[in-house]
Amino acid sequence: MIATIPAPPPQLPAALRPVVTTLEQRGFQVRLAPPPVRGAYGLFQAKTRTLWIAPVAFDLGIGRQVFLHEAIHAAQSCPTGVLRPLGWSVQLNPVVEQEISGILTTRYHHGKRELEREAFSVQGHPDAIARVIAALKQRCRLTAPSRGGNRTGP
Ligand SMILES: [Zn+2]
Repeated sequence: MIATIPAPPPQLPAALRPVVTTLEQRGFQVRLAPPPVRGAYGLFQAKTRTLWIAPVAFDLGIGRQVFLHEAIHAAQSCPTGVLRPLGWSVQLNPVVEQEISGILTTRYHHGKRELEREAFSVQGHPDAIARVIAALKQRCRLTAPSRGGNRTGP
């Protein structure tokens, strides 16, 4: 018989925490849970400013890429809530370009080639984390601190 050991709550790798902090300071929520779209490893929903990363993505070794991809979509959604390209000039290899053509036909991506090209370009970039944080800081305003938890009002 195999004993069932309760799984520890999923956690993002330490290297990604600064990105999470940057997102949260700007009013985004990061959920380490399966996205509300079946079969998706990651999802960014502009309306609720929420990023989902399926924990299984980390088991598959693609969690970091998925997370950084969705974080770029979050940056694209600033400042208006409508996703717009960051304006990066992006070079991708033909395999990735083809992959983008494939995902543009699915519901849960954002339907614009430029948006996906930027998101894909950062995934494999050596400075991906710094680039994502810089984009978020450049585009997204800080939200007021201490929502809940730390209230001092009457
Ligand atoms: Zn995407």
